[in-house]
Amino acid sequence: MNAPFKSSSPNIPGIVNGLSVDVEDWFQVGAFEDVIARGEWDSIKTRVEDNVYRVLDLFAEAEVSATFFTLGWVAQRHPEMIRRIAAAGHELASHGYDHARVFTMDRSAFAQDIRKARSIIEDCSGVAVTGYRAPSFSIDQRTPWAFAELAEQGYAYSSSVAPVVHDHYGWPEAPRFAFKPLPWSPLIELPVTTAILGGRRVAAGGGGFFRVLPYGFSRWAIRQVNRDEGRPACFYFHPWEVDPDQPRVGHAPLRSRLRHYTGLARMAGKLRELVHEFRWGRMDLVAHREAQRANDLFLPDPAAPCSAIMA
Ligand SMILES: [Zn+2]
Repeated sequence: MNAPFKSSSPNIPGIVNGLSVDVEDWFQVGAFEDVIARGEWDSIKTRVEDNVYRVLDLFAEAEVSATFFTLGWVAQRHPEMIRRIAAAGHELASHGYDHARVFTMDRSAFAQDIRKARSIIEDCSGVAVTGYRAPSFSIDQRTPWAFAELAEQGYAYSSSVAPVVHDHYGWPEAPRFAFKPLPWSPLIELPVTTAILGGRRVAAGGGGFFRVLPYGFSRWAIRQVNRDEGRPACFYFHPWEVDPDQPRVGHAPLRSRLRHYTGLARMAGKLRELVHEFRWGRMDLVAHREAQRANDLFLPDPAAPCSAIMA
């Protein structure tokens, strides 16, 4: 099964790409937040556990390790699932408590949110949480205190920035690769992967783009990042993306429905191809390796032109 992929492997020696899963249920996504209130979550039949087990099987078949950025809300209700993720050798990290975007909070609410999520995940798993991913990549120029709070709470890394223009999120001026946002802390940020197409940054690190576009686009983008730029890619997806039978939210806006439901049936097959074709590992491993080369990279002046940062 694996042989055809391995025989044409495009892997670059020494490069391990970061593989991650944002663990939330189908009704907790940003696309539906205006039509499904947080107060309704407990009354909806959950599917996250079965979907995570599908993902664990897929990873086991490919013999890859990954990072599961998990909502505290989900960990609280599925402790056995958390234990199974940890027992399979994957990293457990935080995705905040209930998917509130960082730029909707002030610093003290953010501090509480990440403290609460982390303690739930650590209690369930029995292992220390050192990584954080902001819901909807919501650390940007509006949240200048976020990295400092993560550093003060002892996080080793964050993967919370999408350095690209997007209608829901994005910090297009941020560096494309690992950087240290604070001169006084070893905290490292691993932005989600972008590629350069026609001189512009394009999202290439997973999510809806991976589902909607042909697999060949992701193959091209990750090869560009690995081979031409000599850097690891950081890729993410969600458990609900491997669940074509999930309930349909008919009253959500058309755009949200297109974004959420397109390509679900093909997703597992594309993921299988992706995890077999490239070399993948946990995000804490990628952070550790990237920290060595990012010693002098501090957060750039947000007013600096994009081209200066990309150079
Ligand atoms: Zn999320």
